[in-house]
Amino acid sequence: MKRPVFAANWKMNHGPTEARAFLRTFLSRYKKRTDRTVIIIPPAISVTTVAAGLARRTDILLGVQNIHSQPKGAFTGEASAAMAFDAGARIALIGHSERRHVFGETDAATALKCRLALDNDLAPIVCVGETIDQRNAGSTEETILRQLRAALAPVSADEFSRILVAYEPVWAIGTGRNATPDDAAKEHAVLRAELGIRCGSTKVAAGIPILYGGSVNASNAAGLLAASGVDGLLVGGASLDATTWSDLVST
Ligand code: PEP
Repeated sequence: MKRPVFAANWKMNHGPTEARAFLRTFLSRYKKRTDRTVIIIPPAISVTTVAAGLARRTDILLGVQNIHSQPKGAFTGEASAAMAFDAGARIALIGHSERRHVFGETDAATALKCRLALDNDLAPIVCVGETIDQRNAGSTEETILRQLRAALAPVSADEFSRILVAYEPVWAIGTGRNATPDDAAKEHAVLRAELGIRCGSTKVAAGIPILYGGSVNASNAAGLLAASGVDGLLVGGASLDATTWSDLVST
């Protein structure tokens, strides 16, 4: 039985002051458990604050929402994988739908970022998901497989044990409309089969956490987590309130 993974993507919410207040409440409610993995992914400006707040809670992992596709240089406003690691992050979201659809991130950029994450000891959470038009056109699987293959192109077979994947249908993100557990199970199976082909081992693929994301809340979390092949949840809106989040990670 794999430990479920609960990842909080705060998006552009919770600057340092709010991040400290969140941790005060959350850490008083969520005591260390070895049967689950909890990840907090604050905006870049709050990463060092959250790192300091988690100094005594090594059971909770810290992530970043993005890294730049180049290792360093004249990229005003950006942060590199090495800097994220230095600030305390051990996880990096790669290819979140808002990066792809709001900021125009390409499949090629996700590949570069995935490589840099691994090179800098950050475990990438590779996000894939179809838009509503792609879903209605029947191209969900073609889309998520294209995104997965592209991001993992520079990853060698022996590195697959260091990655996580998130299936996040774009139409479900922040809309209040989540995929059904059956829908999630179907797409997770497609992704896992591809992971097995790419790394050449169904055993390794079985161990890769595949998270579902998209309008998860405390009411639907248990049903989604119970779906076949759903190893965890990537949560935006419902991760912002410390009490709601502590209830959700206790699912
Ligand atoms: C996300 O940002 O990854 C996400 C899943 O958002 P929400 O839970 O708000 O749909």
